[in-house]
Amino acid sequence: MASETNRFDRRVIRRRLLLGAGAAGLLGATGAAGLGTAAAHAAVEPHVDSTAAWGARPPRGTNPVVWGSPDKLIVHHTVSANTGDFSRARAHTHARWVQDLHMDDNGWRDSGYNFTVSRGGWITEGCTGSLDALWSGTRFIRGIHTAGQNAQSIGIANEGAYHDGAVPTAAQWEVLVTLCAYVCEKYGIPSSRIYGHKDFGSTLCPGIFHDRLPRLRSEVEDARRM
Ligand SMILES: [Zn+2]
Repeated sequence: MASETNRFDRRVIRRRLLLGAGAAGLLGATGAAGLGTAAAHAAVEPHVDSTAAWGARPPRGTNPVVWGSPDKLIVHHTVSANTGDFSRARAHTHARWVQDLHMDDNGWRDSGYNFTVSRGGWITEGCTGSLDALWSGTRFIRGIHTAGQNAQSIGIANEGAYHDGAVPTAAQWEVLVTLCAYVCEKYGIPSSRIYGHKDFGSTLCPGIFHDRLPRLRSEVEDARRM
């Protein structure tokens, strides 16, 4: 759809084309014209579907704003099914599933993550306010994702379960890299300060993403130089 093409980050499209990840339908005239024109020395802003876009419930009360920058980024997985549905609609369904789980089963005020990345490579805002805060670069929403770290980190969760031999899709990985690069740049977080949930607690989360942290840090560093 045109609306997806126009708002989709050009570099993600380019990276997907390089990968042949099946996103060719997203490349419209606008995207083609923009290829090769990504600004130097800066991570490109990825498109993120806001809570309004995916139909989130309002949080209970007000999500706490933390002024200043987080000092790290923490990667998670959501332990949802490893779906083969890579659509934007599925990403929205997943975002609602996560929020329902966190609010209804866990009793939390909102979705606990700041952002999620679907297996199809769609990014959704997690707890309400996280996206506006990211754009500002001067504040962030205190999530509920890693005990002891929520007031100083951004939590990014990947759709799927990766503690049992499964691997992310190419699109999911590439978009995760792009999102991490943008978050690191906006908040001035060194790429070396990307961690996995299990670095801060007894958990299997985020599965194979933890094994791949050295690669993730390296690719994020590269993306910030493009
Ligand atoms: Zn986790």
